[in-house]
Amino acid sequence: RDPDVKKPKWLRQKAPQGQRFQEVKDTLYTLNLHTVCQEAQCPNIGECWNGGGDGIATATIMLLGDTCTRGCRFCAVKTSRNPPPPDPMEPQNTATAIASWGVDYIVLTSVDRDDLPDGGSGHFAQTVKAMKKIKPEIMVECLTSDFRGDLNAVSTLAHSGLDVFAHNIETVKRLQRIVRDPRAGYNQSLSVLKHAKIAKDGMITKTSIMLGLGETDDVLKEAMADLRAIDVDILTLGQYLLPTPLHLTVKEYVTPEKFAFWKEYGESIGFRYVASGPMVRSSYRAGELFVQTMVR
Ligand code: SF4
Ligand code: SF4
Repeated sequence: RDPDVKKPKWLRQKAPQGQRFQEVKDTLYTLNLHTVCQEAQCPNIGECWNGGGDGIATATIMLLGDTCTRGCRFCAVKTSRNPPPPDPMEPQNTATAIASWGVDYIVLTSVDRDDLPDGGSGHFAQTVKAMKKIKPEIMVECLTSDFRGDLNAVSTLAHSGLDVFAHNIETVKRLQRIVRDPRAGYNQSLSVLKHAKIAKDGMITKTSIMLGLGETDDVLKEAMADLRAIDVDILTLGQYLLPTPLHLTVKEYVTPEKFAFWKEYGESIGFRYVASGPMVRSSYRAGELFVQTMVR
C-alpha cells in the first residue's frame, strides 16, 4: 500500500453475528465444504450468511482446487503451471453437501485452469446439474474464468441450468495489463459475457470491477457503457484492498458517497442492479441481488 494512502474508518470490519449466520456456520462443520467466505475471511460473511432483509442466505464455494495457472497482481491465490488434476467426484460430492446445507443461493467459483482442455467448464456444468437435480429450488451463480476466450466452454456452462453467469472484468480497459495476468484481457472478458448472454435465452449476466486502482471517472463510465452494450444485467463495484505488501498498491480509497453515486449512475444507464460499496465483493449478498434483479 502506498504509505500516503491511509486506510479509512469505513473499511473497519464488524464481527459477524445473527441467528441464520450461526445456523449456517454450525451445519457447515459436518460437511466437507470449503467456503471462500471463511477461507478468505470475507468481512461480509454475517450479511451474506444471514441473508439480509429477504432472508436469502448466500455462500461461495471454490471448485477445481486452490492452485491457479495464472498470476494476477491483485490476487493472493497460489499459482502453478501444473496444478493437481480435478477430483472427478467433486461435482457430485459438492452438490450433495450443499443440498444438505442451509443456504439458498450458492456461488460456485474457481481458480483459472488453463491446463484443462475446457478450462474446467465441464466440471462446473456437472456440479450445477447435480445440484439442481438434488435440490431444484437452490439458485446457482457461477463466477468463472474467461476459459481463454473459448466460447464452446462458455456455452457448455450457459446450458447447465445455472441462474446467473458471472465473469469479472476486474478493472477498466486501460489498467488491464497492470492488474490482470497477461492471458486475461478486456475484450476477451467482454466476449465471454456477451456470449453467455446470447447462448441461452433469458440468461442473467453479471460482472465486477474493483475501484481504487487509479481509474478515472471517464474510463469507468466507458467500461460501464461497454458492459451495457452487451446487455450485462448486474454490476458490482468494490474497493480494491491490498492482499499482501507484494501486491499492487491501492491508489485511492473511494468514499461511500462516491460508491453511492456509481450505483445511481449504473442503474440510470440500464443495469438491472448495481451493488456498490467499499466492502462489496462480486458475490456480496448475491442471492438477494438476484431476486431483486428478477422483480425489477
Ligand atoms: Fe461469501 Fe462472497 Fe459473501 Fe464474502 S461476499 S461472505 S465470499 S458470499
Ligand atoms: Fe487470482 Fe483469478 Fe487471477 Fe487466478 S485468475 S490469479 S484466481 S484473480
